[in-house]
Amino acid sequence: MSDTHILVINSGSSSLRFSVYDMRGERQIADGKIEQIGEGAAGPADHRAALAQALAGIADRDAIVAVGHRVVHGGERFLAPTRMDAAALAELARFDALAPLHNPANRLGIALGMELLPGRTHVAVFDTAFHHSLPPAAMHYAVPAQWRARGVRRHGFHGTSHRYVSREAARMLGKTPAETNLISLHLGNGSSVTAVRGGLSVDTSMGMTPLEGLVMGTRPGDIDAGVLLHLLREGIDPRELDDALHHHSGLRGLCGENDMRAVRALAATGNADATLALEMYCYRARKYLGAYGAVLGRVDALVFTAGIGEHDADIRARVLAGLEWFGVRLDAERNHACRGQRAMAIHAPSSRVAILVIPTNEELEIAREVIGLLEPRATPGHAPARATHRRRSDP
Ligand code: ADP
Repeated sequence: MSDTHILVINSGSSSLRFSVYDMRGERQIADGKIEQIGEGAAGPADHRAALAQALAGIADRDAIVAVGHRVVHGGERFLAPTRMDAAALAELARFDALAPLHNPANRLGIALGMELLPGRTHVAVFDTAFHHSLPPAAMHYAVPAQWRARGVRRHGFHGTSHRYVSREAARMLGKTPAETNLISLHLGNGSSVTAVRGGLSVDTSMGMTPLEGLVMGTRPGDIDAGVLLHLLREGIDPRELDDALHHHSGLRGLCGENDMRAVRALAATGNADATLALEMYCYRARKYLGAYGAVLGRVDALVFTAGIGEHDADIRARVLAGLEWFGVRLDAERNHACRGQRAMAIHAPSSRVAILVIPTNEELEIAREVIGLLEPRATPGHAPARATHRRRSDP
């Protein structure tokens, strides 16, 4: 085709990010972020105005053949990138409650995109989709059958990021994704770990919602469900519980700061709470590495990505401390030289497991997924679009 530009839209509750890629050579030719939507004089009045503003800044709109939209939760219905139309959009609304901070804004972005850019293929790419390959033992919770019938199961998130870095890692190792076993650590504000066997996600630390797993900026990760029952019995308001688990737990709950740089600055002053927060953050991540090593049996690489994973050499070193039994040996110098500007190997020559830092690129991965859906055979390394109803009967 002559025009090969893909627009990628990430429509959030108060911000809208966009990128345009020329997929001949995967060249980014435009990008931007519009913030403070609906928050007063500084920002655009609403999402429609924000998207119109974004489009006005793109010189060659006619060259855009398709639009990729980031959607956080695809539930058990959307297991692969999906062409959107009015019916699919209506179905997507079913999953608003599972990602209330994200999905309604994601859907709005799709609806407005279809309206303001008619005649293009609009494709939703889901953060949950990469994890549709979880085997039943990893996917399910040991809960009553009625709950499972109502859709209570692990979905996992950050899938677009885990998929992108796992493919880049295979490339760096000179292997195909199908030949590669790895553990990817997406360490950002939200954090998750994924065990990838042969290019497929086989376990991941986030669950039915993005609350499970690692210690995060403001979320606790793993917690005994009995704690929540206890608090409910003691009379806590469910809205207060919700707010505490989403916004006042994790690093912030432990030391008052949620940004890793601020936590580290506080710990450097000798603050005991911040020191414990750092220790718990790294301990939890290390615990998952051990668990996923056991799940995979053979691990070719550990991959660090996202804000903390890409930039914070000290956290990487602390997460990996004591993992020599696992064949993991960091090269301290390479680790400290690596600030996430580009993909880099940071393991010692004697390490049995490669340790890679790979800047994530969810926008490019979304553009690749769109191309994969439009022209499955034209993009080596991309599986043809799968039927979205597969495994729909799974609880
Ligand atoms: P999000 O999940 O919102 O996309 P990011 O992936 O950008 O977040 O990660 C944000 C986290 O990365 C914050 O905790 C921030 O402190 C941390 N971070 C970003 N840059 C650095 C840096 N240079 N050193 C240490 N931490 C960093």
